[in-house]
Amino acid sequence: TYVVTDNCIACKYTDCVEVCPVDCFYEGENMLVIHPDECIDCGVCEPECPADAIRPDTEPDMDKWVEFNRKYSELW
Ligand code: SF4
Repeated sequence: TYVVTDNCIACKYTDCVEVCPVDCFYEGENMLVIHPDECIDCGVCEPECPADAIRPDTEPDMDKWVEFNRKYSELW
């Protein structure tokens, strides 16, 4: 899965949301999040993010971000 990290805070762009083929972006408190079970790992959103906030969970120390993205996407 891909996850949104804290570089997203205060970003006003929603290019990522528009390109996602499965609509798995959700609104968090002050940033967007990706539902980790709905993301199909296509990677299309990553280069669209001007803040470099979207990262694959295969990078180091992403576990807390997966949990964070899950928590806020499941509030909907
Ligand atoms: Fe959507 Fe693909 Fe990004 Fe996952 S990797 S959030 S499916 S655009």
